[in-house]
Amino acid sequence: MTRKQQRIHFAQQHQALLRCPLCHEQVEVNDASIVCANRHTFDFTKQGYVNLAPQRSEELYTKELFAARRDIITSGFYDPLHQELAKVVGQATVIADLGCGEGTHLQKLLPQGAVGIGIDLAKEGVKMAASYDNVLWQVADLANIPLTTSSVDTIVNILSPSNYKEFRRILRPTGCMVKVVPGEHYLAELRQAFFPEKSPYSNAKIIALFEQQFAKTTQLKVSYQQDLAPQLMRKLLDMTPLMQNVASVQKAQFIADKIQTITLEFIILLGEN
Ligand SMILES: [Zn+2]
Repeated sequence: MTRKQQRIHFAQQHQALLRCPLCHEQVEVNDASIVCANRHTFDFTKQGYVNLAPQRSEELYTKELFAARRDIITSGFYDPLHQELAKVVGQATVIADLGCGEGTHLQKLLPQGAVGIGIDLAKEGVKMAASYDNVLWQVADLANIPLTTSSVDTIVNILSPSNYKEFRRILRPTGCMVKVVPGEHYLAELRQAFFPEKSPYSNAKIIALFEQQFAKTTQLKVSYQQDLAPQLMRKLLDMTPLMQNVASVQKAQFIADKIQTITLEFIILLGEN
């Protein structure tokens, strides 16, 4: 079986989770496509993902950016965060990563036997993510999620914007939303070197907005430091949104200054109703 055939077979087993992004009707997965009752049709690509937002295009995030992210994430940079998240996710059976990027976070968290759903509007990210098994990989709009109402046990949303109206719609009544936001010392060395006026970072508004969405909320903090070799440090500088407008020569100077240790700090926000 090709990867595409495997992904189609997996989607057929879980088609009850899916709905059409255009008319919101239920869909069926045939041997090549997702098709709704009104014949809106979305084909599986050869990589095994489906583009359910072909009218939208997100070109800001390039293949090179996602390749840098994959190298950093698979290097173990986020392992302590993943360990905490794995405890929180527990034995959930349907987990959706909304804003999944190149997919490694979800792949690291997915319990054995669970169904993953990875959604992002950035096609280059989802294309790369589709290399991982046991996940329905979709290019889709988080303001119009192609999943049925009350279909998901656990939503994860890692360093990525939220659309709470849609997130609450797809979450089961007993479900849990897990949002990861930067702590105030997240990437402190980069902030101090490049944006001393924006240091420390404040996440107060994001946390306040989250707390308005759910009846019960909890916070967990994860803090640690990681050393990075110069080659990976350069990738971190290239993949971090904060660094988007920093000139290459300044990044090179940072690496020449032999700063090797980076502080990671995250707040894990849990929301339940
Ligand atoms: Zn339709």
